[in-house]
Parts: sequence; C-alpha cells; structure tokens
Amino acid sequence: MHTIGTAGHVDHGKSTLVEALTGIDPDRLAEEKARGLTIDLGFAWLTLPGGREVSIVDVPGHERFVHNMLAGVGGIDACLFVVAADEGVMPQTREHLDIISLLGIERGVIALTKIDLVDDEWAELVEQEVREAFAPSSLAAAPLVRVSATTGAGLDDLQLELDRALDAAPDRPDEGRPRLPIDRAFTMAGFGTVVTGTLSGGRLRVSDELTLLPGGRRVRVRGLQSHRATIEEAAPGRRVAVNLSGISVAEAPRGQVLSANDAVFETRRVDARLRLLPHAPRALKPGERLAWHTGTTEVVASLRYLESEPIPPGGEGWVQWRLSAPVALAKGDPYIVRRLSPPMTVGGGTIVRATTRRLTRGDAAVLRRLDLAATADAAEIVLATIEADGPISLRDLAQRTELGSQLVRTEVNSVRASGRVEAIGGSLLSAAAAANLRTQIHEAVAAHHHRQPTAGGPERTELRAELKLEQALFAALLDQMEENGELALGGSRVALPDHRVELSAAQEAAAARLLRALDAGGATPPALTQAARQAGTDATVIEALSAQGRLVRLTPEVALSADRYGAWLDELRAMFGRQTEVTVADFRDRSKTSRKYALAFLDYLDAQAITRRLGDARVLLERGT
Ligand code: GDP
Repeated sequence: MHTIGTAGHVDHGKSTLVEALTGIDPDRLAEEKARGLTIDLGFAWLTLPGGREVSIVDVPGHERFVHNMLAGVGGIDACLFVVAADEGVMPQTREHLDIISLLGIERGVIALTKIDLVDDEWAELVEQEVREAFAPSSLAAAPLVRVSATTGAGLDDLQLELDRALDAAPDRPDEGRPRLPIDRAFTMAGFGTVVTGTLSGGRLRVSDELTLLPGGRRVRVRGLQSHRATIEEAAPGRRVAVNLSGISVAEAPRGQVLSANDAVFETRRVDARLRLLPHAPRALKPGERLAWHTGTTEVVASLRYLESEPIPPGGEGWVQWRLSAPVALAKGDPYIVRRLSPPMTVGGGTIVRATTRRLTRGDAAVLRRLDLAATADAAEIVLATIEADGPISLRDLAQRTELGSQLVRTEVNSVRASGRVEAIGGSLLSAAAAANLRTQIHEAVAAHHHRQPTAGGPERTELRAELKLEQALFAALLDQMEENGELALGGSRVALPDHRVELSAAQEAAAARLLRALDAGGATPPALTQAARQAGTDATVIEALSAQGRLVRLTPEVALSADRYGAWLDELRAMFGRQTEVTVADFRDRSKTSRKYALAFLDYLDAQAITRRLGDARVLLERGT
C-alpha cells in the first residue's frame, strides 16, 4: 500500500488532475462529509496499471500543503508535482520543491499540466525552465510527463510513471509501533468521533487500545475504514479513518498522534539536524523563534545552536529546538521551519533525539553522540548505549535510544548472542563492564579477607554499598559468581571459596573455652557476652567461630555451639516426622529449654527458610532433608 502526495502552485491543476486520474473529487468528498455520507476525506485512490492500489493525498490550499506534506512523511512514498504549462515555475512551485528537498523525498513524477493550453514550442521552453528549477532538488531525476486533465492527454503515461516511481519504494516497515498523526477529526452520526491519517510503523486493529499524545489519553479503536471499506486491520502505509470510543472530537484535534508501544514521545525539546536553504536570506539567530512543523502539527520553536559556528544559508549542523507546546514525535521524523512573518520556509531537517535535555553549545562529546545517533545502525546504537550508560534496563535502553522496544529487544538479543553484552539481574551491560564488576567484587572480598582474616568475608550490604551496585544486579552477580565457583556465599557474608578463618593458638584456646561455657549451660546456655567474658574471648573470635560454622548466633545475645544447634535441628525434624505443625511451647517442652531459647531458635530457622511461621506454629519448608 503506497501513498502519493500532490505538490504545486495554487490553481496549477492538482485537484483536477487527481479527479481525472481517480474519478474522485476531493472537494466533492468535502460536501459528502457535511452530509455525513463518508469518512474518506481529502484523499482519493486508484489502481495503477500494474495492479497497485495507491492513495493520493490532496488537501487544497497552500498553507495546508506544508502540513500535508509533513503529515504524509510517514506516509508519502512519492510526489506528484504539478506545474501548469501555461504559467511555468511559480513561487509556490519553488517553495514546495524546497520542502520536498528538505524532507528528502526522492521519488516522484512531474506533471506538466494544462498542456492543451500551449503550443509545442512553449511547452518545450517551460519544460526546460522546470528542469532547471528541479535540478538542485531531491526530485532532480524525476520523469516529466505532459498531461491535460481536460483532454485526458498523457494520463496513461502519467500512471505508468507513477507505477515505476513506486516500484523503487520500499514496503512500509512494520515495527510493531503503529502511529497515526491525525490530520482530520469529525463526528459522524451513529459512530461518534472519527479521525483520519496515514498509518505508519505498525498495524492497527479493531479493539486496539491506543494512546493519544500529547496528553496520554487512552482510547479504543471501535472501527476502521480505508478507501471507504470497513476493515478489521490496517497495514502501515494506508490512509485510514479510525472510529474512536471514549473521546470527543474536540479532544482529538489535528496535530495529535494516535500511537502504541512508544511509537512517539511527548516532548518539548529535541535534538536535530538543521539544513538551511541556500536562498534563505541570512543565518538564523540564537534564540530565534520560528514556526516549526512536524507530522500534522505546528508550534513555535526557539533555536539553540549546538556547534560553535552558526549555520550559513546552504549549510547544515546540529541544533536544539525548544518547543512552545508539547508535541508527539519520534527519532527520524522530519521537520520544517518557516519564518513567522512574512511566512517563508527557511530550513528543516531530521529529529535525531525526540527527548533530550538542555545541551551545552560546542561540547565535542555531545556532538559525537549525536553523530552516532544519526548515522549508526540500530545494533551499533544499542551496543554503544549499553557501553556508555550500562548497567541499564531494557526499558531504559528503549527510552534512551528511542528505537522502540521491539527493535531494541531484537538488537539486544543479537548483541547478547555475539557475547558483547550480558544480561544480569535485569540489567544490560557490556561483557567488559560485567567482567570488570566481577573483578571488583573479587578484589573487594579478597581485600576484606586480608584486613580481617578471622572474619568470614564482608557482609553483603557492606559490599554492595562499597561497590555502589543496584540490588538486583548485585544479587545476580553474586549468584553467578557462586555458581562459577568464584565465591562462597554463607548467610549474610560473602567469601572467596578458599578462604579459611584462621585463629592464633591463644585465640583457639579461648574459642574452645567459649564453646565449653555455652555447652555447660545445657538446654539454657548463658548469654553470649557473659560466656565470652568468662572465656576471655573478644568479638573477633566470636566472628571467626560463626564464620567457621562452629557457633550459631540465633540473636546477638543468644548463641549455640554447632553441636547443640545440630542436635536441636534433629529433634525438630523428628517432631515434624510426627506432626505437621510445631509451636514454640511444643519445642520448649520437648528440648527442655526456656521459651526465650525456643523462640530464638525457631525465629532463626524462619530466617534461614527452614521453617515458616503460620499463626502460632511453624511448618517445615525444606523437603527430603
Ligand atoms: P489546484 O489549485 O492546483 O488544485 O488547481 P485546480 O485543480 O483547482 O485547477 C485550477 C483551474 O485550472 C481550474 O479552473 C481547472 O478547471 C483548470 N484546469 C486544471 N487542469 C486543467 C487542464 O489540464 N487543462 C485546462 N484547460 N484547464 C485545467
């Protein structure tokens, strides 16, 4: 499905030619609209000799042309440029040509119309004049066909040339990011709100939930029409009319964009390339305000140069535009700027970042990133962004690159498959950055072992704070390193697998005294600090004993020797062999301990995920041990 847009000076015969080609008069359609008969407005369609069905967008009026051309950018595959043979090249011929060149539209056919009004010699002169005017434009290579809408002369040739121009037009990509810049909105009796536009980026289906931007209102597709036929699904490239539910006409005016899946962003500042027309009267001034057109919308925007030098007429460079009102747009969209008064197209270009912040003029790093965003392919951009900004989530990556989540996901998969990117704990980072983080973790743990050889390594929280890592990424990195045998994770501490807690002979003797003191208490061991004082041990020895697994600290004050802990655990498991629930009182009675110890023991097991509290009782979580 392709769409053709018309261009050319007023009264040169655009509408008449469209009607001669299609049998549809766009003005007549406007009347039908008034009577509520049709929802296909301002465009006509025909089947070309090759069997290809095309839409022709032809909204009359010069000022609307600018909107029309831009509205079609997602949608215009080729231009039908009309020049009347009796008048030749006129001011609007030149301005339309400028705009088409700024938009980079290269496919098209020039129709030299009203050929019935001139003789051959005159036609020859005008043709030469047209060729000269078109030579510096993007349509320099476009074929020229002499036609008359009145006599029908040349119409067959014109159709053949349009067909040929479209042969080279690529199919509209379906990126799963549909968007429809609204060019018309009206009410239809029995239907309610209907909006029209040229669809790009993805498909629309009846019942789809869409977002209307700017504003972010949610709407639902109640019905779809294209070329006056009711359809269930519309493919990109189509002119469509969408019947929306949950919204009034006033809330969906021209300039708004219907979209899904981040197809467009709402923004008030963009980074862009700006090309100034060679015949622009002068360079633009920093801060200068201009009429700024993109899609079907127009706002006032002020200019900020990003390169040190201003852009001279005929030159191009990086700029930032500050928009007077939010606009919905996407990376890659073209735009046009016109002087406010007298209105006159002076330049235009492509948006390279739809959402941005205020950038400093003349910053080489900023300019390098803009160059990359403008010229690199999606895979390169994804890789470079992960390298520069990682660890980064898929969602943030899609936002930052503005490539859309579907494309970003595909590219991420391919860079992961190539081994250049790793996904850890929901974060994407370059393989080099991941390796670097693993080295940092290893070094931090090794340094801790060196500083405190009698401890079982740093606490997880302490290590995470030291490395300033996000929680999920940190946890996933540790798990990964444990799996690879690079770390040993015990409780809340992180150690190297070969780390052994070493005690001096004196410390070892004190440790043995401490364990004896605890065991001497039987089922109600003394408080830890008291036992430690008795044994003449300090915090280092207690640390070492728990790191070695010889002492289990149920609470800061309640500790058991590993032997007693093991015996209690066996006893508890035996109880669970007979009953499904064990209360604190059950366990206290069974082990002949105090309530305080029974409670501390069971709370500790809950924390280890061995048991779980259920009301007053505990149930056993572990199976088969
Ligand atoms: P637009 O403003 O470019 O859409 O121009 P229109 O299609 O409205 O045409 C302007 C005038 O030129 C109308 O009066 C048409 O009847 C007339 N016209 C258009 N095409 C031809 C043609 O091929 N031959 C002649 N003789 N008149 C034409």
